[in-house]
Amino acid sequence: MAGDHKHNDPLPETVLRVKSLESLLIEKGLVEAAALDALVDRYETKVGPKNGAKVIARAWADVDFKQRLLTDGSAAIAEFGFSGGQGEELVAVENTEAIHNVVVCTLCSCYPWPVLGLPPVWYKSAPYRSRVVREPRKVLAEFGTTLPETTEVRVWDSTAETRYLVVPRRPPGTDGMTEDDLALLVTRDSMIGVSVALTPAQAREI
Ligand code: FE
Repeated sequence: MAGDHKHNDPLPETVLRVKSLESLLIEKGLVEAAALDALVDRYETKVGPKNGAKVIARAWADVDFKQRLLTDGSAAIAEFGFSGGQGEELVAVENTEAIHNVVVCTLCSCYPWPVLGLPPVWYKSAPYRSRVVREPRKVLAEFGTTLPETTEVRVWDSTAETRYLVVPRRPPGTDGMTEDDLALLVTRDSMIGVSVALTPAQAREI
């Protein structure tokens, strides 16, 4: 992981391998292209980080909802119709000026599927899993995230039972924005905790 690829982009080699595998499966008549497309679409868009972004935007806009999210993450995301599917408990952890949270699964790749979709390749990599525990600030810096020394960094280890969702800090200059607009500032990486949410200006550049 250490600087060998851009963290925000999928590995081109991985994409190619997936495509080759897909063509082979279709050629051999093992799967239908339409079924595969529907599955990928489901995890990239419906089950993917857009769900999480909606949850975070609501938490920023609605103090009562944020309180419910921090008290019982699974119940709060169920208000959107998002549910675990594997019976796991979702725990939301809030970033503040004093505390920055980051999530890992040191054993394998446990990840909050209902709100974030499929985990990125780097999340499952051995270097991320071991290094973010030992040297979180260094790993965060590699993602372009530099925090003040006075901010405590907390690393949360996901398990099959407990999955974590980071509530990033609401960026400045976002007063009065609608939930839909706020959701555009919430990136997948900001909900894993390796990045912070985008400012409106940064979101416009994407
Ligand atoms: Fe795991």
